[in-house]
This record gives sequence, C-alpha cells and structure tokens, in this order.
Amino acid sequence: MIPTLSSEDPLVQIRNEVIDCRRCPRLVQYREEVASKKRKGFLDWDYWGRPIPGFGDPKASLLIVGLAPAAHGGNRTGRVFTGDRSGDFLYNALYKVGLANQPLSKSKDDGLILKGAYVTAAVKCVPPDNKPSPEETVNCSNYLVREIDSLSNLRAMLCLGKFAFDNVMKTIRSKYRIQGPNAKFGHGKTLRLGKGIPAIICSYHPSPRNTQTGKLSERMFLSVLAKAQKLRTNGSE
Ligand code: SF4
Repeated sequence: MIPTLSSEDPLVQIRNEVIDCRRCPRLVQYREEVASKKRKGFLDWDYWGRPIPGFGDPKASLLIVGLAPAAHGGNRTGRVFTGDRSGDFLYNALYKVGLANQPLSKSKDDGLILKGAYVTAAVKCVPPDNKPSPEETVNCSNYLVREIDSLSNLRAMLCLGKFAFDNVMKTIRSKYRIQGPNAKFGHGKTLRLGKGIPAIICSYHPSPRNTQTGKLSERMFLSVLAKAQKLRTNGSE
C-alpha cells in the first residue's frame, strides 16, 4: 500500500500496471500454479499469485532491490519480502536501524511502515528455481527503471545479491549515460558513480542459503545498512 499518494502519482500507476502484468507467459503460469497448489502450512491462505510491486516510503532516499518474489513469500502474501525467511531477516534489520516501524513482515495488513526506504525486486514475478530468463528480466526492467525515476529523493541504492546489482547497474548506466567498464559485485562494496547519481551499495542476498550458512550474518548486514544510512542521509559514508 502507498496510502498517501493520489491515483495520478507515478508510483501508484506503476503498482497498478505491475499487478496486472502478464507479459511473461512462463512466469504467469508458474506464479498461478504455485498459488493454486500452495504449500502445506499455508493451505488456508488465499495466495496472491500475481506480480509484486515495490513497497515503502514514496519519499525514500534509499532503494533496496532484491531478485524476485519468493514462491510462498511475496507470491503468497502480495508484498515484497513478506512471509518468508529472507523478509524476516531483512525487515528485522531495517527495524534495528530505524528504517521500519516493526521487525515483523507477515502479511500486507500487518502494519509495517518503512521510513526513508523503498523495497522492490528486479523481477516482479516469482521465477522457477529463482532464475528468471534473460528475456523475462528485460521484460520487467522497465518497471525498475520507472520506480527509480519516480523516487525523486533517492541518494543510495542497496543491491541484495549480484542479480539485483547487475540490473541496477544496467539501469543507472543507461539513465546517466555512464561509459566505461562494468563494475563488479562485492559484498560491502560502495560505488560512487558521479555527482547527483545515487550511490550503489552491495550486499549478499539475505536468503536462507546465505544467512543459515553464515555467508551473511546479521552483523555483516547491519554494517552494510549503517553505510547505507550514512549515504542516504549525508551523501557520504
Ligand atoms: S516478470 Fe515483470 S514483465 Fe514479466 S509478467 Fe511479471 S511483472 Fe510482467
């Protein structure tokens, strides 16, 4: 929900277009199949089963970008990073640094409010095996471009994983006509690409595969968020 915006606001228009989008036949079929089969434990849920738009503060100075919704997380609840362990990790950390009003993210109507941050995914539909095809990624890229364009206070962008990083970099390079070699993803890395261009910060994705193996600890993620907080408020680390 973006409660304070009129229906004319670009973020609302993007949201409305996203939730009705059926441009990728394979992903449309998959998201609906998952929604109809469900997972044991969520059988009483009426799955969302549609694309997942971004969520958060329309005045955000920090944009957080993930890969794509989870089959039984966002694809079930209808809100990005909501109802799965990645979301639990992410929003708990956002709460700890003051970007969220609560640590829990269970459903669209759980009262979660973000302040200063907006969360989205590079691809808005759940892909099989978490792997959108190159064509599907291109199909969806315009929504990310428009979200970035609509967040006029952006000063920093936190990319969760290499896939998000590659897509954000592609968007930023095209938007600001940046030439030169492609930068490489690295956890904790910050890229300053020029005056007036939001800083890019990299983090490993908070997936269970990373958080349960210790590849991404809470301490590591809070450290990245502390950097993001400084960049979004002061413009420097
Ligand atoms: S992945 Fe993006 S472009 Fe493809 S159907 Fe979903 S919302 Fe539309």
